[in-house]
Amino acid sequence: MVEKRCIVCGIKKDGLPVREDNVIRAIRWFKRNVTKNEKGYNLVVCRDCYKKYEKSKHIYDRRRILYTSLGVIVAVLWIIVGGIRIDTVITAIVFIGIMYLLSLISYTPSLILDVNHKVRKRGASSREGMR
Ligand SMILES: [Zn+2]
Repeated sequence: MVEKRCIVCGIKKDGLPVREDNVIRAIRWFKRNVTKNEKGYNLVVCRDCYKKYEKSKHIYDRRRILYTSLGVIVAVLWIIVGGIRIDTVITAIVFIGIMYLLSLISYTPSLILDVNHKVRKRGASSREGMR
């Protein structure tokens, strides 16, 4: 059986499953091939950490949109100023890539969607109840 581990508190715990996206796959690949400490955990967000997770996810989503759109705008301006040449296009693509990587500093993975949706609703109503 594969152990479950919360991505927020790092404790072995049951919780809502995290969607394995390309970033997680890349991290797993890096751990398996470079640092050789891939544990193969099933990543989850435990109930206690859900609020923290939601906040972090919100920050990440906003930052990712901000960084990538900024990257695209600067890249387009760069091409307009420099003209459509191989070197300006490559620099523009590299720049977008760098901006994307910068947005990953606050990387927070998604949860598997339908579960996320249900919990979001439940989370919202329990928050209402506390007020
Ligand atoms: Zn946790």
